[in-house]
Amino acid sequence: MNIDICEITPSHIRAIFPYAPGKPISELERELGIRDIVKLASNENPLGTSPKALDAARQALLDASRYPDGNGFELKAAISDRYGIPAESIVLGNGSNDLLELAARAFLEPGRSAAFSQHAFAVYALAVQAVGARGIEVQAKDWGHDLDAMFSKLEDDTRVVFIANPNNPTGTLLQKAELAAFLKLLPSSVLVVLDEAYDEYLPSGSASNSMAWLREFPNLIVTRTFSKAYGLAGLRMGFAAAHPDIADMMNRVRQPFNVNSIAQAAAIAALSDAAFLDKSRAVNLSGMAQIREGLERLGIDYIPSFGNFLSFRVGHAQGIFQKLLKLGVIVRPIAGYAMPEHLRVSIGLEHENDKFLSALQQAIEEVT
Ligand SMILES: *Cc1c(COP(=O)(O)O)cnc(C)c1O
Repeated sequence: MNIDICEITPSHIRAIFPYAPGKPISELERELGIRDIVKLASNENPLGTSPKALDAARQALLDASRYPDGNGFELKAAISDRYGIPAESIVLGNGSNDLLELAARAFLEPGRSAAFSQHAFAVYALAVQAVGARGIEVQAKDWGHDLDAMFSKLEDDTRVVFIANPNNPTGTLLQKAELAAFLKLLPSSVLVVLDEAYDEYLPSGSASNSMAWLREFPNLIVTRTFSKAYGLAGLRMGFAAAHPDIADMMNRVRQPFNVNSIAQAAAIAALSDAAFLDKSRAVNLSGMAQIREGLERLGIDYIPSFGNFLSFRVGHAQGIFQKLLKLGVIVRPIAGYAMPEHLRVSIGLEHENDKFLSALQQAIEEVT
C-alpha cells in the first residue's frame, strides 16, 4: 500500500528542514575506524559532569521504576532558591529546547508570527514552523541581534520574539541596557523568550539581569539550560522563568513527565556544586584565550565570543570540516545559519584545543 505523504502531512510540517546536530564521536569512529577523536562540535562541557550530580544521578537510577515528580517540587525549590524567583514562575523542560517549543505551542498558532534574528539558534525557526505560525527573520548586525530592526519588523500578529544572549553560533552579546530598552519598548502582547543558555560563562560585569527583570516585565520568558556549564547535556534538563500566568500556560502544554527523575536529581546536585561551575568557567576562559591566540597565529578571522565556543572564517568551510574529521577532530559547519564560510568550534580542554589547532593548520595547508 502506498501513502501520499502530501495528503497526510500539513504543508508547514513538510516544509521543516530538520536540525543538524553535531556529529557523534561513535559515528565518526564507525565511519573512519579511528580512535582518540576530539569532539568540539556541540558546546558540551569538556570537564564532563559535576561529580556531585553524577552521584545523585546514580542514586536516582535505583528508583527508575517510579514515575518522576511531574511537578518537579524539589528541583523547583532548588532553582527558586538559587535564582530568587517563586516556584510558580518556573517551567521545567526536557532540555531548554523543550521550553522553546512549549512557548511556541502555548502562544503561537497559524495566523500568528514570531521574530528571531538571522544567524540565531536554529531551533527558533523550527519551533515556530512546527505549530504552523510564521517566522520573521530579522537581518543581523555585526553577527548579532539588531533590536531596532527587530522592533521595526514586528507585525500586528507577532506574539513571540526569540533572543539568544549570548547568541549561538556567533557568540555575540547584547548589553543589558540595550535589552532593557527593548523590553520597555515592546507592547505587553509580545512575549520575549530570552534564551540564556550560556549565561554562566559571562564575566560577572556582563551577567544577566533577567531574573530581576521578570518582576518588571510580565511578557518576559527567560530560559536556562543544564546542558552547557552544568555538564548535563545527555540528561536533557532546562527551565524557564516567567510570570506565573505565563508559566501556567506553558505547563498546560507540556507532557506531564517531560523531565525524567535522573535529570531532576542530577540538576539539584549540580546547582549546589559551585566548585564545578567555577572550574568550568575557568577552563573556558583559558581555553578561549588559547584558541583565539592559535587562530590569530594562523591568521584566521573569528567572531569574538561570550559563550563556550567560537566561530571562525575559513572560506572553504565544508572542505576544512571534512579534513578535520579525517584528522579526528569534529567541529560544526554552520552553513545552515547562513554562515557558509565559517566553522564553529567548542572550547575544549587544553590538549583538545591543541589538537584542534594543529589539525586546523594541517587542514588549511592541504585544502588551499
Ligand atoms: C545549547 C543551546 C540551547 C540548549 O539546549 P538544551 O540542551 O536543549 O538545553 C538553547 N539555546 C541555545 C542558544 C543553545 O546554544
